Amino acid sequence: MTKFVYDFTEGNKNLKDLLGGKGANLSEMTNLGLPVPPGFTITTEACRHYLTEGELPGGLDTEIDAHLDALEEAMGKRLGQADDPLLISVRSGAKYSMPGMMDTVLNIGLNDQSVEGLTKQAGNERFAWDSYRRLIQMFGKTVLDVDGDLFEEALDELKHAKSTTNDLDLEAADFRALVETYKGIVREQTGRDFPSNPREQMDLAVKAVFDSWNSDRAILYRRQERIPTDLGTAVNICTMVFGNLGMDSGTGVAFTRDPASGHQGIYGDYLQNAQGEDVVAGIRNTVALADLEGIDKTSYDQLLTIMERLENHYRDLCDIEFTVERGKLWMLQTRVGKRTAGAAFRIAIQLVDQGMIELDEAVDRVTGDQLAQLMFPRFDDGADKKQIAKGMNASPGAAVGKVVFSSEAAVAAAARGEHVILVRRETTPDDLTGMIAAQGILTSRGGKTSHAAVVARGMGKTCVCGAEDIEVDVKGRVAQAGDVTVNEGDIISIDGTSGLVYLGEVPVSSSPVVQYFEGTLKAEDGDELVQAVHRIMTHADAAARLTVRANADNPEDSARARRFGATGIGLCRTEHMFLGERRQLIEDLILAESTAERIAALEALKPMQREDFHGILKEMDGQPVTVRLIDPPLHEFLPDFTELSVKVALAGDDADPKDRKLLECVHRLHEQNPMLGLRGVRLGLVIPGLFAMQVRAIAEAAADRVGEGGDPRPEIMIPLVGSIQELEHARDEALQVIADVAQETGVSVTTLIGTMIELPRAALTAGQIAEAADFFSFGTNDLTQTTWGFSRDDVEASFFSRYLDLGIFGVSPFETLDREGVGRLVRIAVEEGRKTRPGLKLGVCGEHGGDPDSVHFFHEVGLDYVSCSPFRVPVARLEAGRAAIETAGSDSR
Ligand code: ADP
Ligand code: MG
Ligand code: MG
Repeated sequence: MTKFVYDFTEGNKNLKDLLGGKGANLSEMTNLGLPVPPGFTITTEACRHYLTEGELPGGLDTEIDAHLDALEEAMGKRLGQADDPLLISVRSGAKYSMPGMMDTVLNIGLNDQSVEGLTKQAGNERFAWDSYRRLIQMFGKTVLDVDGDLFEEALDELKHAKSTTNDLDLEAADFRALVETYKGIVREQTGRDFPSNPREQMDLAVKAVFDSWNSDRAILYRRQERIPTDLGTAVNICTMVFGNLGMDSGTGVAFTRDPASGHQGIYGDYLQNAQGEDVVAGIRNTVALADLEGIDKTSYDQLLTIMERLENHYRDLCDIEFTVERGKLWMLQTRVGKRTAGAAFRIAIQLVDQGMIELDEAVDRVTGDQLAQLMFPRFDDGADKKQIAKGMNASPGAAVGKVVFSSEAAVAAAARGEHVILVRRETTPDDLTGMIAAQGILTSRGGKTSHAAVVARGMGKTCVCGAEDIEVDVKGRVAQAGDVTVNEGDIISIDGTSGLVYLGEVPVSSSPVVQYFEGTLKAEDGDELVQAVHRIMTHADAAARLTVRANADNPEDSARARRFGATGIGLCRTEHMFLGERRQLIEDLILAESTAERIAALEALKPMQREDFHGILKEMDGQPVTVRLIDPPLHEFLPDFTELSVKVALAGDDADPKDRKLLECVHRLHEQNPMLGLRGVRLGLVIPGLFAMQVRAIAEAAADRVGEGGDPRPEIMIPLVGSIQELEHARDEALQVIADVAQETGVSVTTLIGTMIELPRAALTAGQIAEAADFFSFGTNDLTQTTWGFSRDDVEASFFSRYLDLGIFGVSPFETLDREGVGRLVRIAVEEGRKTRPGLKLGVCGEHGGDPDSVHFFHEVGLDYVSCSPFRVPVARLEAGRAAIETAGSDSR
């Protein structure tokens, strides 16, 4: 029979799939002999069963009974026992931590009787009633779905009546009264009494945790973080320990290193006489963790020892939740902590230098997405800035935007394409939509562990928190920073690296990491971060099997790509070369009525193309340059049909004859589905001389380069081929032109001729096509369009969000390659192509070439290279290295 419940002594940190992160780590700490309150975990498997079947799995109840009995036995008291109650927390915990997404209920087991027992046992009436009201509040909100504000308002009213804002000024009698008020709220809102039966409380809470997996907030967060929707959450039942027993008690959070910089030290917050979320909720001001030394040295020393032990054990930065109950330290949670991108690189290298991990693992511990973040621009050092406040540097980056005070405003502005900074006193999980929509987040309260800080770091979003010099009036939509008034719509700039806030727009400059890639900053002259990036990139390059090329259409981009570590160009689009003034020449070509006119038009284009290719081949000397012959339908180069019609109609009899001709042509070339129309190789076969002109320009440019002593390596790529016959026609023509040029110039340049694989038919007949192709390059954008039958521009805006909601895919197939469908076609083409031609060169030139997840797939199927935009080249290099290291790791395991 399936085991659905694990005691904390039974699990370990590797069981995250089953026990969730929190449960697995509670077990791990228990087994390390650390002071963890006893408890047990109900598995994610039970949750999945509950979510799919609508009822708890059979046998779960009995299993829970047995574990609860054992817990009660060990603690010497029963759940909710009237004279001496065992109290528990019911805590969610999925495989991936989802901050603030799923709510925990504390103090389960309290009711009108057991609260008296707790009072006697603790000798503290205030504490017992405070705990009881917290239970009703949390239970009411998370389990019974009562609007949490109602409880908050009642609490505020009570404080107001006592003329205080500090919950420490409330006394036992106040909490007694509050319990009655809260019970009333529950009755009024739900039509039932607050459940007094302890076991019923527990069972309802367990179900509520399971249900919370599908709360809107959880769904949104998962989508943002690309967490699969079907994992489910585990539930942890944990004996309560109390940080709200008096000033000798308290609760805190800590990091073994600074999650923003990576530096070792004592980082965290502590709050005396407080329970659970009080620390991060910002209800009172916390003290720095270091101050705990003065408050309770024994607990402090013990905590530091445990933190060191955890870091050595996990060999990584850990974050920790703990509680001190009357001088006794309890560990309530640990996990490998989230960190900023910069800290990820620094920590990885610090750990290498401390001998804790190898370089391979360091490469594995950072991601391409993190590297991409480090390449974001920063504020100009030299710029004129008006600083209006300073807060905590919670999540790095430089963000500029209009101030908005609500998530709704942020979402609305983002929909209009505006950049905004979300300014709040503090954020709550309800602000998630606004945080996603904003460029950056600024709060006036809360520390580095506040909701805003944690979530922003997770999203890689710039955040300054706890900027106390700013008075935020959300209702009035205004903020006051000293004598500066900031209204909604005013522009501010926030620096998440320094914590500084500026009025107005501050210009930004490139990041040192980009300067390093550009070569303007040498690794050895760089700071700790640049050196860490350098060491990790060097190791990744050495490990990688995939090489990385760039998509570039001009010499400047080619040069940058090369500086960024590209070893060739995987896609040089020639149509971009026909824009601007040259559009005229393409018009002439299209309008040509005689062979002579057509030849004249092509002759006019050729020298320009030749110059384009010459520049690119020069920048990429010694490296392959794949030039794709013209791909888009020709009418893309013609004026807009409606505009032209209006122009001709308005001019009446005086209309320019060329305009008339053009209009006729635009009309004739109009297609219902241009994506599937006259484009790619079809153009080459239908318009005589077009491909030949391009091939000639390439061949002549290459010959010029040889004449200059260069080493050109052109590769000619035929787009949108669906059958070998198409490719053969195009190839024969190209070979002839190349031979002609060789004869004319006396220089013969090796030129590969290959094709894109971007139609399902091409993939399925790759074995034949390979007979006429020196290389394949997977055009995964079009291959995704044609495999799914999606016209990208039409579908993304119209219904992709619905598809994501329905879980039809977890992430757009245009962002990350769809392995089962499109990927399968890639696999078939790789296998059959190589069977025909063992040395066939294989690459990918769609946008997926710069997507970390897709890069791993391309490594797996055995491509030779990926190609992506120049700025993504470092990301792809890193992921290529990571993919190789991961495969090597799993092979030897
Ligand atoms: P989250 O995932 O939101 O951090 P947790 O389950 O960790 O939720 O719990 C919320 C808060 O309650 C945390 O501060 C945690 O330390 C505290 N807490 C949870 N269980 C207990 C317990 N058994 N005793 C005391 N505090 C607890
Ligand atoms: Mg927690
Ligand atoms: Mg294409």
